[in-house]
Amino acid sequence: MKIDLLIKNCSELHTLKGPKRPRCGDEMKDTAMVTGGALAVDGGMMIDAGETGELEEKYDPVVSMDATGKTVIPGFVDPHTHLAFAGSREDELVMKIEGKSYMEILRGGGGILRTVRATRKATKGELKDAMVKRMDTMLSYGTTTAEAKSGYGLDLENELKCLEAINELDREHTMDLVPTYMGAHALPPEFKDHGEYIDYCMEEVLPVVAERKLAEYCDVFCEEGIFDPCHSRDILLKAKELGMGLKVHGDELANIGCSRLAARLSAISAEHLAKTTVDDMKAMAEAGVTGILLPGTPFMLMQGHYPDARMMMEQGMALALATDLNPNCYTESMQMVITLACLQMKMHPREALTASTFNAARAVGREDIGCLEPGYKADVVILDIPNILHLPYHFGVNLVERVYKDGKLVFCR
Ligand SMILES: [Zn+2]
Repeated sequence: MKIDLLIKNCSELHTLKGPKRPRCGDEMKDTAMVTGGALAVDGGMMIDAGETGELEEKYDPVVSMDATGKTVIPGFVDPHTHLAFAGSREDELVMKIEGKSYMEILRGGGGILRTVRATRKATKGELKDAMVKRMDTMLSYGTTTAEAKSGYGLDLENELKCLEAINELDREHTMDLVPTYMGAHALPPEFKDHGEYIDYCMEEVLPVVAERKLAEYCDVFCEEGIFDPCHSRDILLKAKELGMGLKVHGDELANIGCSRLAARLSAISAEHLAKTTVDDMKAMAEAGVTGILLPGTPFMLMQGHYPDARMMMEQGMALALATDLNPNCYTESMQMVITLACLQMKMHPREALTASTFNAARAVGREDIGCLEPGYKADVVILDIPNILHLPYHFGVNLVERVYKDGKLVFCR
C-alpha cells in the first residue's frame, strides 16, 4: 500500500495507545512504548503503528524517515496559556528576587493590570505579531496544539479583540489554538466592585462571545482577593447556559473552595491546584475533572510550593501539564515544564509525557490528537534522545529534531 510517510527504527516510540478517556492515577505511567517501532502516515492521519519490520512489509512510503537513536511521541498539547498579551514584565522578576510577593506587585499597579494597559493599547495586528512569535517558538519546541485564554482586555472591545486574534491565528498559523474567554481574570480599573464586574461580563460580554462563537470555554480566576466562589459560580453557570465548557483557575495561592466548585459544576478541568486538599482531589476524581498543573508558575514566583501531583494520582485524578505562558511565567517550552514536573512534583517521565500529550488533549476537548494510533491526526514529534528519561534529564535545551503537523513536516533542525 502506497503511503505518504513512514517513520521507522524509532529507538522508543510512545504511541499512548489505551482507553479514549483521560488516563487516571496509575494508568498515566503506561505510554504504550514500542522499542524499534515505526509509524505509518497518510493524508495527514495516523494509519498504523507497530514494529518496523512489519510496517516495512505492508507499506510503500513516498518519504521514509529513519529515526534510529530517536524517541518519537505525539505533539505536545499545552492546555493552559495566556497567549494573547502585549508587553512584558521582566523588571517585576527583579522585584520578586528582592522579596516582593505577587499580591504586593499587583497592589502596586504591576502584575495583571499593567499587562491589561499594554494589551488594550495594542492594535489587533500588533497583538497578533507578538502571538505569532510565541507560537513559532512553541511549535519549534514540539507543541502542536495549545489552549489560549483572553483576559488582558477585560472590557467588551478588548476581550473581543483578543478572542478574534486567537481565532484568526488558529486558522492562519500551523499550530492549532483552542480559545477560552477569561474576562474574570482581574478587576479592571473602571470597576470598584467584583460583583458589578461579573454582572457586566455576564450581561455585556459573554452573550456576544457566545453568539459569535469566539470561545469554546469560559475560565475564571477564583482566588482569595480576586473572584470568590459565588461570583465564579455565577459566571460559569451563565457560560454553561450559553453552551460553553468550563474551566477554573483555583487553589493557586489559597484554598477558598474553587476545586470543589469545579467538581460540583463538572468543569472539564481545574488548574493550578497548589493548595488543594485530599478531599478536593477525591471530589475532582469522582467528577472526572482533569487537574492541569502548572509548575512553571511557582517556579517563577519562587514560592517553592508545588501541587501534590503524587497524592492527586493516588486519589485517581487525571493530570495534565501546561506552561501557563503569560508575562508572569514566560515560557513556551513544555520540555521545561516536564523537567519541573519531574523534579519538583516527583512525576515519572512517562506520567509527565501522558500529562503533556493525551491527557492535555482531553483537557481541551480534543479527541483526535495526543495519540499515535490509527485514526488520530498525525501530529508527531521526533526528539533527539535515545529514550524518554532524557526528556526531563537533559534540561534547558530544545531536544526536538522534527515536528510534523497533520502529517506535514513543519519544523526541522
Ligand atoms: Zn493561568
